[in-house]
Amino acid sequence: MTIAAEQVINGIIQERNLVTELPGPRSLALLARKENAVSAGVGIGLPVFITKAGGGILIDADGNSLIDMGSGIAVTTVGNANPEVAGRVAAQVANFTHTCFMVTPYEGYVEVCEVLNRLTPGDHEKRSALFNSGAEAVENAVKIARAFTGRQAVVVVEHGYHGRTNLTMGMTAKNMPYKHSFGPFAPEIYRVPVSYPFHDGPHGGAEVAAWAISRMEKEIGATNIAAIVIEPILGEGGFSVPAPGYFKAIADYAHANGIVFVADEIQSGFARTGDWFASEFEGVVPDLITTAKGIAGGMPLAAVTGRAEIMDSVHAGGLGGTYGGNPVACAAALGSMAWMQEHDARQIAKEIEAVMLSRLTAMQINHPTIGDIRGRGAMIAIELVKPGTIEPDAARTTALNKYCHQHGVVTLTAGTYGNVFRFLPPLTIPIPLLEEALGILEAAFEATA
Ligand SMILES: *Cc1c(COP(=O)(O)O)cnc(C)c1O
Repeated sequence: MTIAAEQVINGIIQERNLVTELPGPRSLALLARKENAVSAGVGIGLPVFITKAGGGILIDADGNSLIDMGSGIAVTTVGNANPEVAGRVAAQVANFTHTCFMVTPYEGYVEVCEVLNRLTPGDHEKRSALFNSGAEAVENAVKIARAFTGRQAVVVVEHGYHGRTNLTMGMTAKNMPYKHSFGPFAPEIYRVPVSYPFHDGPHGGAEVAAWAISRMEKEIGATNIAAIVIEPILGEGGFSVPAPGYFKAIADYAHANGIVFVADEIQSGFARTGDWFASEFEGVVPDLITTAKGIAGGMPLAAVTGRAEIMDSVHAGGLGGTYGGNPVACAAALGSMAWMQEHDARQIAKEIEAVMLSRLTAMQINHPTIGDIRGRGAMIAIELVKPGTIEPDAARTTALNKYCHQHGVVTLTAGTYGNVFRFLPPLTIPIPLLEEALGILEAAFEATA
């Protein structure tokens, strides 16, 4: 048997290596400073302070190497400090850092929009507009849909997540921690059922869609609805993939009734699920798509892309913002998109899916607390329940997460009931490292049994 040569990415050996307890003394000192300087409202999942990262590894202030199973919440899909991103960012920073596109424009912004128009589903005429954050993209999608339709109502679904600004808090389903004590929320937001196969029992996608449509008909009236905004795979809601037929039926209803169908692909977009966009899997062509997170290799950038007649229906000056489509963020996005095309990112996501599903399925045999395994590509989750039921086991989820953190694997939880473990590794994670992270998860199941 030969031992595989050590893999090095960004000068970082791709192996987990703990030299202190986690968090180590330097991180603890920084945490004390954090508590004195940063609002307590800004929480931290795992308080190890990062100094360098690349491939599938995060290095902390104490010199520990941790395995990254979260990509900073689905952001560094192309890997942290990906050379293709970092190189273009450095070149752009040296040229100019900001002009405000609305004052004096630059090519990078236009080029990002051209790529978005080309990569998003559908071969109709498209336009894009760039923003800073996912929430800002969602807000703008709603603005555009309202301007285009002359209607006000916005329909979202149970378990949906769309951000933390006032409008997007209202659109988000979960109270704690996102909404609690922050109301009142914006009016004209309506929530309808979503297909959640693990919880829906015998009810299929078409049936749940029929309930949602009936609710829209009876409680709002189709002609009052500007937009339906929906994640093709729930993100913060726990990676539930709607049963076949649901997403398409909702999209068809929107199209038949002059409602703008907005796919929020901020978490599921950009090769994450093994397609450029998760909507493609269902054969749905959204009118508008919101993107952010994985778009620019870690730089803050977001976009709304969609049908030219909808996007162009807004008066000049109605969309924008001081920093939206910042030139450095655009350079990063172009680097990230180039890397994804050159390296067949969608195929890598599918390979990660195959490894994860086979390992998790094997784990489920010995650990029936794994009630459901789901997701697509490098966006996979397990839902933890009291064995044989669908009753959430949030305590076990927390215990598993803690074990993984203490053993140097940066994992994330999710879900309305806090009982979902979600995996969002960067596509640059070497497969042996991914296997090691899953091995630690398995050990966590044994240690917390
Ligand atoms: C993260 C997320 C948002 C909000 O993005 P921010 O950049 O945090 O404002 C919106 N929608 C979905 C689906 C998300 O996952």
